[in-house]
Formats: sequence, structure tokens, C-alpha cells
Amino acid sequence: MTNTITVLGSTGSIGRQTLDVAEQLGLRVAALTAHTDVERMEAQVRQFQPRLAVMTDEAAAKDLAVRIRDTETRVLGGAAALEEAAALPRADTVVTAVVGMVGLKATLAAIRERKRIALANKETLVCAGELVMDTAERYGAEIVPVDSEHSAIFQCVQGCAGRREIRREIRRLILTCSGGPFYGRTAEEAGRMTRADALKHPNWTMGPKITVDCATLMNKGLEVIEAMRLYRLPLRQVDVVIHRQSIVHSLVEFRDGAVLAQLGTPDMRLPIQYAMTYPERKESQLEPLDLLTCPPLTFAQPDRETFPCLRLAEEAAAEGGTACAVLNGANEEAVRLFLEEKIGFYDIPRLVAEARAAVGVVQNPSLEEILAADGAARQSVRSKQ
Ligand code: NDP
Ligand code: MG
Repeated sequence: MTNTITVLGSTGSIGRQTLDVAEQLGLRVAALTAHTDVERMEAQVRQFQPRLAVMTDEAAAKDLAVRIRDTETRVLGGAAALEEAAALPRADTVVTAVVGMVGLKATLAAIRERKRIALANKETLVCAGELVMDTAERYGAEIVPVDSEHSAIFQCVQGCAGRREIRREIRRLILTCSGGPFYGRTAEEAGRMTRADALKHPNWTMGPKITVDCATLMNKGLEVIEAMRLYRLPLRQVDVVIHRQSIVHSLVEFRDGAVLAQLGTPDMRLPIQYAMTYPERKESQLEPLDLLTCPPLTFAQPDRETFPCLRLAEEAAAEGGTACAVLNGANEEAVRLFLEEKIGFYDIPRLVAEARAAVGVVQNPSLEEILAADGAARQSVRSKQ
């Protein structure tokens, strides 16, 4: 069980909910990090009194230092300070809740300090999953997923003896997918959708990048890769089903045919709390699931034609090596352009596919090769937008 946490990305959707949970559980906070949101960081510093507050944006760090000079909290600025926060000795758990693969080096730094990683930042596992999992195994650091689907799977496999046994006993993982705000639309309709339309998710309130990923189904593609890396399973053992109600958070089919699922009302504070309290469970104030009043649970096949990002992610997953880093880097860049209203909905899969065609794949990559693949993918998107 966790006593003291560090939250990377504390001002975001997951970061704020993590601090809610920390307050409920009475956890201490060692360090908090954000990018530019100085106002929210100031409020968090005053409430949680961390040792260290990092603003990765240098100007924001200067601003914060002035605002909180009456407190005991030290302020650091710049991207490298994220690693310093991640490695701070005081914390036993580091919650990785920054958005994008900028979280990679910090996650590795926390692993090397043998922290428990409460992993929300899926881009890290997509780009460098094998490296992250190998490093965690080498240093004996626990990786506990926060993403609701992977937390569901993690909860379902708790009866299995050890990591290797888990892999042997699983026949297949079944990730559920809400289908996003454009579910059931034709390609023509989806193509007309704007930033504002994409930001209306039916069941979850999340940061803008992941919300767009949910609309394109890239989020589910990234989650397929995340699941493959967490459990070291091949693509053919990870399936996706559409489940509009977001009540069944995911399922595991074991080799004897038993299927276990984790259900609950959609609220990220549950997987966040479990990542803190695992292997124990603690009381929570969250609304329990009422089977008699919840909507009927339905399941359907995802539409990979109207939502090609899922297929693109599965193709990258099958190719392996740096293919997933290219997919992710191109997607991050394309989603940024979509959020800036510079490109349309279907430009996202187009730019990702073009980056995949343009950037060669390296198998068994080093960290440097992964970062280079990410950079090349971003460059491809910027040059073709
Ligand atoms: P948000 O956009 O809400 O928050 C992102 C956080 O990262 C903020 O604290 C932000 O700081 C910080 N940040 C942004 N850019 C940078 C940067 N360049 N360097 C360092 N820090 C940065 O995202 P979410 O909370 O929605 O998502 C976080 C991660 O969790 C993502 O990987 C997402 O896929 C994953 N996730 C999220 C879920 C959700 O329900 N939201 C569910 C499952 C997974 P600032 O506020 O100052 O910009
Ligand atoms: Mg998820």
C-alpha cells in the first residue's frame, strides 16, 4: 500500500482525480508537476504541501516560484526536472499522468528508483513498452495500470500466481471500447466533425488529447498495444469489443474458457485508488453499480473502416520495433493540429499512415532509436499537413 505519492501531470484530468483520491486515503505528496497551469499548481501546492513542484515550462516555473515563495516547496523548471521529480526518494508511488511520450524518461527514472508506477500515461508503453517492462523487471519495480481497461484486466488476473503464470493462463484479453462520440456515424458524417464535436465524449470527462483519440478509436489502438506490453502477449490474444455503456471495463478469457470481467460505474477514481491500495482494497465514496437500474449491457464489433486508426495501431503492433513509436508520434502531432483546428478528422489517420510509410522501422530499438523514430514521425506530419 502506498503512503507517499508523486504525481507527474497533477493539473490534468487524471492528476486532479489522483489528488482527490490521495485526500480521501490520507496519502502524503512528495512532488507535483505540470506544464503551464500555474494557477492550479499554486492551489495544489498550498493544499498538499509537496517538497517539490515542477513546471516543465520555464516561464511558468518562474511565475510559480514568485507565487509560492511563502511556502516550503522548492520549484524547478524545464523538461529535465520531470525526471528529478520522478526520482525523489520520499515517494513510494509515482503516478504518471502527463499526456504524451514526454513522460517516458521520467517513468524510466522512477523505475530505476524502484518506485511503484501507477501508470496512466499510455503513450510511454506504446512507444517503449518492451524497454519499460524490461527495466521494471530488472529493477523490481511494480507497474500498476491506471487506464480503466488495463486496471480491469489487472484486477481480473489477481488470482494468478505470478507474472509468468498469468501469461500462460490467459487465452485472450478483451478490451471494451465505448465507440466514442461518432459511433454509428458514416464516414461522410464523421469527416465533417469538428474539434467541438470530438470533445463531447459520451461517458468520460478527460483531457483533450485522449478525448480526440477516443473519437478516432486511436485510443483503443494504443490500449491494445498497452495491453500487449503489460502482459507480453501477441496481437492475436488481444481483442476489442464495442460496449457503449462503459460499465464492463474489460475482460480476461482464461485457457479453461472462464471469462472474468470487472464492472463498475465509469469513474477513473476507482482504478486510480486501486493502483494506490493494491494489493489491498479500501473504502471509497464512489457510486456503486446498481445492476437493476443500469442500462442493458451490449457488445458489438468495432468498425475499422470508418475508424481506421484502430487498424493502423494494430498493424503497427503486429510489425513491432519502432513502428508503435512512429504511430504514436505521428498521432500526437496530428491530434495537436486537429485541436488547433488546422486539419480535419480524417487527416489524422491519413497523416499517421503517411508517417508510417515514410519512417523505417528498427527492431529491438534502444531508447535513442525510439526517440529518433518519434522525432521522424512528428517531422513527417509537420511536413505533410
Ligand atoms: P490532461 O491533458 O488533462 O493533463 C495532462 C497533464 O500533463 C497536465 O498536468 C499538463 O500540465 C501536463 N502536460 C501537458 N503537456 C506537457 C508537457 N509537454 N510536459 C510535461 N507535462 C505536460 O490529460 P489526461 O489527464 O486526460 O491524460 C493523462 C494521461 O493519462 C494520458 O496519457 C492519457 O492517455 C491517460 N489516461 C487518461 C484518462 C482520463 O480519464 N483522462 C483515462 C486513461 C488514461 P498543464 O495542465 O500545465 O498543461
Ligand atoms: Mg482507457
